[in-house]
Amino acid sequence: MEIQYVIINFIILAIILFLFGRKKIRSIFNSRFERINRELDEAEATEKIAMPVFEEYQHEEYDENSAEETIIARAVFDEKIAQIEEFSGHIHREIHREMIEDARKELFSIMRENVVKLFSYEKYQKEIRDLDTNIIDAILPQIKLTPGDMAYLKHHDVLYVTLMSAYPLDKAIVKKVDEVTTAMLDEVGGKTSLWVLEDPSLIGGLKLRIGDTVYDGTVAEELYQFSQNLNHEPILTTDTVGHLIQEFSEKAESYRPHIHVFQLGRVITVSDGICWMDGLADIMYGEVVEFECGERGMVLDIQQNRIGCVIFGDFAHIESGTPVRRVGRIASVPVGNALLGRVVDALGNPIDAEGYLPYDEVRPIEFKAPSILDRAPVNKPLHTGIKAIDALVPIGKGQRELIIGDRQTGKTAIAVDTIINQKGKDTICIYVAIGQKETLVSEIKEKLKSHGALDYTIIVAEPASSSAALQYIAPFSATAIAEHFMYSGKDVLIIYDDLSKHAVAYRELSLLLHRPSGREAYPGDIFYLHSRLLERAAHLSEDLGGGSITALPIIETLAGDISAYIPTNVISITDGQIFLDSELFNEGQRPAVNVGLSVSRVGGAAQNPVMKKISSSLRTRLAQYRELAEFMQFGSDIDDATKATLASGRLLTEALKQNRYNTVPDYLQAILIFAVSTGYADKIIPENMEDFEKKLYKYFTEEKAELTDKVKTAEKFDNELKNELSEAIGEFAERF
Ligand code: ATP
Ligand code: MG
Repeated sequence: MEIQYVIINFIILAIILFLFGRKKIRSIFNSRFERINRELDEAEATEKIAMPVFEEYQHEEYDENSAEETIIARAVFDEKIAQIEEFSGHIHREIHREMIEDARKELFSIMRENVVKLFSYEKYQKEIRDLDTNIIDAILPQIKLTPGDMAYLKHHDVLYVTLMSAYPLDKAIVKKVDEVTTAMLDEVGGKTSLWVLEDPSLIGGLKLRIGDTVYDGTVAEELYQFSQNLNHEPILTTDTVGHLIQEFSEKAESYRPHIHVFQLGRVITVSDGICWMDGLADIMYGEVVEFECGERGMVLDIQQNRIGCVIFGDFAHIESGTPVRRVGRIASVPVGNALLGRVVDALGNPIDAEGYLPYDEVRPIEFKAPSILDRAPVNKPLHTGIKAIDALVPIGKGQRELIIGDRQTGKTAIAVDTIINQKGKDTICIYVAIGQKETLVSEIKEKLKSHGALDYTIIVAEPASSSAALQYIAPFSATAIAEHFMYSGKDVLIIYDDLSKHAVAYRELSLLLHRPSGREAYPGDIFYLHSRLLERAAHLSEDLGGGSITALPIIETLAGDISAYIPTNVISITDGQIFLDSELFNEGQRPAVNVGLSVSRVGGAAQNPVMKKISSSLRTRLAQYRELAEFMQFGSDIDDATKATLASGRLLTEALKQNRYNTVPDYLQAILIFAVSTGYADKIIPENMEDFEKKLYKYFTEEKAELTDKVKTAEKFDNELKNELSEAIGEFAERF
């Protein structure tokens, strides 16, 4: 009976096909035929190129048949490389990243095509099929139940085991797998459910999946590993690519699959750069995962039955059901000297036009802060070159000093000036731009370059257009880069511009991850986030090399409100703050440091003793002056003493004004403040202050070099030095 039905069905199908599909089938055949012809022509052409090489190999007594195909493949590659070389002049660093990316992709796709072709030849098919028993014998001793599998078994009856291969498998192999896995699960009182699947995209070999863990001995996986190597090759040159290809071709010729073990999961939902996944049972917080399309992400949330992750790149190709695999490491960035002078993104990829970034080392972006015992007290100064800061809120190496103020009050300007002032001081600077305009970043880069400060600076930029995920990890990556230098004994200055935008990015992520929001809709752990970031700034003890990270986080306030959530958080984490006042800024007092609200809790210990002594009364005098000046706005008769206080206060504030990109060494600052605060400048009108300052510096560096040197290196500010200084300044004031 059944046979009859089958025959009738077949006849009906044949008639339908003949009636409706004739033309279509013919056209398909024709196009295939054309393609085969075309490929034959191509093969003939490449054979010509390959022939000389081929002959060479023959002399070396290569197995003729097996060598032939790979040599043709190799010749195609060589040609490809020649094309790329021609296309780009020479393959070297100056080539733009995208071009190299494209070249890599193209190389890889040709590679894949050739490998697929190679394994479609009967000879290789047979060879690799003969290996199946070897592969499964290599896999079976490795299999074990992970903690994730055990957890799964608690809630479910069976654990799924899948055996996959490119072609039908030998029954004996399936039986063996069934026996071994059943025995393994029997031990823990569970059951298995074995599935055997065929998937031609695996090309050859086989793989076994138990729970979320995959033991992969397929050609497809070997190719994937190859493409990863290609990606990690820092510079794509004829040599490196040639070497890799040769390695692979040799492998293909005498193919012995290596078993790759990894864990797999699956995307449940994806939206707004966030995706939820299941599987990946043993994943850790902060771990990197890779989606099938090659994009990567980082795990930010682990729940009992789903895992939340942020996607770093383009999520357009990720959809429900997309396989995800564990990469097996925490998110990390490249570190080292190669980064100096470069602009990189949060993942350490170069985003300037200077091409590939060669590196040998990577560091995890999250790292535990140095312990109490690992730290030394702050005792070395970090000069900003800005008078109002070095005199009033001195910063020491290893300190965390917040720069806080409304928008457009010169916060970034202070940061950039501080970087410029580190020239020749053996301090590495890292500027982290979070959510800034791209034009601003390139402007800063140009400015640093023109002041000769780019050589010792690294810019980590995730501009406003970047995803919240990348903005969120940018300061952590930058700190990892800084830590590398700190732990090798160097001093580092790191500027986070700015953490308000960082907080906003993290709020966005948290809301998308459905975390409950707290004050001002920020997640509850935002304080912890910033404190764990800033705690990584430290001055290490001598035993650990004595390196340091000085952190200058920037926070933007709204209408001067420093009691909002994020500002109070960061104020309480840092060792002081430089408060920039928009009122002062608009009055023309620039930098607009508000003396009353600015403080440095530890930097005083590192201040130059002369400066310390000279500036000790400065704060009160300035505060007094501002109070009086405000009061005087109401206009009334004033006595002479008040008049004098006002005049000298006015001069002092005038002396603290400073233009951008115009940093002053701390000893000259000390001399100026001494001159102004002891009354030597009383006769000059405030408008002449700038001129007075310039000439004073000139006089002291040129005519009083010895005395200037004394101020620079003095251990303490004694009477002798004081008298000497007074005398010199008196002489200068007379002349002015
Ligand atoms: P935003 O909130 O946009 O980040 P910001 O607080 O970082 O602003 P800046 O960009 O540093 O402020 O400076 C704002 C403007 O003030 C710029 O045009 C800058 O040139 C100017 N400015 C900053 N400091 C000084 C200074 N010391 N002297 C003169 N102009 C200054
Ligand atoms: Mg700014």
